[in-house]
Amino acid sequence: MSLIRLENVSKYYKSAETVSVGMKKINLDFSLGEFVAVTGESGSGKSTLLNVISGLDGYEDGELYLFGEETSHYTIADWERYRGTYIGFVFQNYNIIDSFTVLQNVLLALEVQGYDPKKRKARALELIEKVGLLSHKNHKASKLSGGQKQRAVIARALAKDCPIIVADEPTGNLDSVSGAQVMELLNEISKGKLVVVVTHDFEQVEKFATRKIKMHDGEVVEDKKLKATTEVDLVEPPKIKSMRFITLLRFTMRNLFSTPKRLIFLVMMQLLMMIAFTLIFTYRVSIMRDTEVTQSARFPNVPETRILVERKDGLEFTEVDLSYFENIRFVDKVFENGLSFYNSLPLYIFTEDNYDAWDNQVHYYSYDNLNGTDAASTLKSNEYTGTMPEGKYEIIIGDTWVNYEVGDIVKLGTSSYYVNPTPDDFIGEFTITGIDKAKGGILYFSDAFLNDPNVDRFTINEQVKLDLEQSAMYSWNVKNEGYYLQYNPEITGRRLNYNGESGTLTFIETKDIEFTGYFYDRNTWDEIQLEYTLEDVDVYKETGEIYYLEFGPEVYNEFKDFVLTELEYMYKIENRVVASLSVKGLNNGTKTINAIDYETYRTIYPANIPDPASAIFLFMNGLYTGVFMFVVGLLLYSIVHAVTKNVMQSRKKDFSIFRSIGTSKTTLARLVVLEQISIAGLSAVLMLTVLYFLGQYVQAIYAMIQYMEISNYITLILFFLFFGGWLGLRFNKKIFKQSVIESIVSSKEE
Ligand code: ADP
Ligand code: MG
Repeated sequence: MSLIRLENVSKYYKSAETVSVGMKKINLDFSLGEFVAVTGESGSGKSTLLNVISGLDGYEDGELYLFGEETSHYTIADWERYRGTYIGFVFQNYNIIDSFTVLQNVLLALEVQGYDPKKRKARALELIEKVGLLSHKNHKASKLSGGQKQRAVIARALAKDCPIIVADEPTGNLDSVSGAQVMELLNEISKGKLVVVVTHDFEQVEKFATRKIKMHDGEVVEDKKLKATTEVDLVEPPKIKSMRFITLLRFTMRNLFSTPKRLIFLVMMQLLMMIAFTLIFTYRVSIMRDTEVTQSARFPNVPETRILVERKDGLEFTEVDLSYFENIRFVDKVFENGLSFYNSLPLYIFTEDNYDAWDNQVHYYSYDNLNGTDAASTLKSNEYTGTMPEGKYEIIIGDTWVNYEVGDIVKLGTSSYYVNPTPDDFIGEFTITGIDKAKGGILYFSDAFLNDPNVDRFTINEQVKLDLEQSAMYSWNVKNEGYYLQYNPEITGRRLNYNGESGTLTFIETKDIEFTGYFYDRNTWDEIQLEYTLEDVDVYKETGEIYYLEFGPEVYNEFKDFVLTELEYMYKIENRVVASLSVKGLNNGTKTINAIDYETYRTIYPANIPDPASAIFLFMNGLYTGVFMFVVGLLLYSIVHAVTKNVMQSRKKDFSIFRSIGTSKTTLARLVVLEQISIAGLSAVLMLTVLYFLGQYVQAIYAMIQYMEISNYITLILFFLFFGGWLGLRFNKKIFKQSVIESIVSSKEE
């Protein structure tokens, strides 16, 4: 039966300026069992003929029949199937994947074909033995001689068990001995197949060839039968099955790891980009958070991982309460005496005692600001050097105080400047037992210190009290009037002065005046409005436009008392029963609050006071962050894209080999995408590791990534993987723009 038949087939190569003839009106017929030698001088159209009959390249005129069937309706997929199932290729430049071993090169063809995975290796070894390379099976192709490479390619071509073998000058680059070996090999395998060999050197195949075709100027000038052939029936080769995911994955991994330098390079590049992107992202997230919330002035030192709770009925905590808190998933540790001094006072740390001869006194200064205090027992063992403080007056300090070492003794006080301090002015002298490696400006007290109920005596600071009282005061307004209220200590009695343009105040009347005040409920963060009526006030007024309203100490105290009674839970300082919960990480604070039964308990999250004025800033910030991250992403993407593109360029040859051995477009597309996703995935895993370790040791990085939640990381990684996939898809388009032969030719040129 005629396997391949050409009827008046012509092929032209069109370039911008010229059209050259590849072959003209070719009429040929090939059958199984033939060993055809195609000869002719260079440029006579031999390769063109081979490419057309093997479906590597298209043609213009005439008709090519395969198995008696027209092919003009063939789609790309049909050609792929034809090539993949029926054709084995051997080219002059031994198209072999240099980074693969001989075995891997042969396995590749079997995988592409969907060959039974269990028998794959045995089959590959059998073929490798056949071409005499068994001793070299684990050698990289790049290390083989030309003849060995060509034999490996033949083994790969045979792996498919296809009925047609085409070889375009397979011995062109070989010395005569290896050339003869290769031809011998082709002859051996030709039984029952159609072998078409293009050769310069007809003598090499004279012994085996059953037919000689000579070409000249794109035409067949001689077609001579040399030997009789026996008609063979076509045994349908196994159909190519689509590659199973697991095979594809292994295929991808082999591809990546066979060129470790390239893989490392690509992963390192993406890793850098991802770290850059993530840090910029977390930086933006932290800025947004800073806009959204503020630290409570009432509790300036409470860190972001601490929440204060109290019973709404004001009673002492019971065992039930405490174990309730302990059992909350996000809670790390519960401190019963939560309102310890460290939660409400600004603290200062002193080392220098400067004796001043001028006034004969000792002056204590502090330049060390404090960002917060916490319990040392919340530190993990890898977070600090030194030892855990055990005694009441032992302490761990943050790493920003470079002057201090383990063993140093520091004094703590509630003011930044003292002269001849008495013991009462100081909190105490503390021995440093450890240094926090990452966080700065922070003090960690021992449990012994924090669990001592007496530490509460430091809670009451006159300045804090004053601030609270004033905030209680200045939240008031005369109902339906918009005057600014001003305190004047000189004014006596229940009197209000409406200050205006002219200098003299005149008594107007004595009456009740209604006030409204706006306060933030620190439990729900709803704005609450209080109303208060000041009875029997003497009202004085100046003439002209009124600017503000003055009042004296008596009115001030009346307001204050009312607010402190009414909003006791917000402003009360003394005799308060408050527990403190240490939560596992910055992001668990809000979750903890949501988990606490708010009917029974009141929670205060001092480091997380929502700033109602921030809404518009937050919106702008969010918008800015979105646009900014998009631009940053685009920039980093274009760098990765450009670099990866160059790297992909160097792999063109490999891809054209994949295609020439019948890897379908879909499979190759999946391979490219999977490769990129794997690179992205690998980089992402490395990024997490790198960030984790950087976070442990570098304060600035810790400060940024502490805002990242698992969900943020998942989003980022999905984004990176998606990006990898997208990159893959883009390269795919490039790869498939060219026909197989074009890509082989162009990769040869490069
Ligand atoms: P051979 O293999 O016998 O050396 P080819 O089939 O490669 O000959 O080439 C036949 C003719 O087609 C030559 O004139 C050659 O210049 C031309 N040709 C081959 N490939 C291309 C191509 N990709 N673009 C343009 N012309 C080509
Ligand atoms: Mg050629």
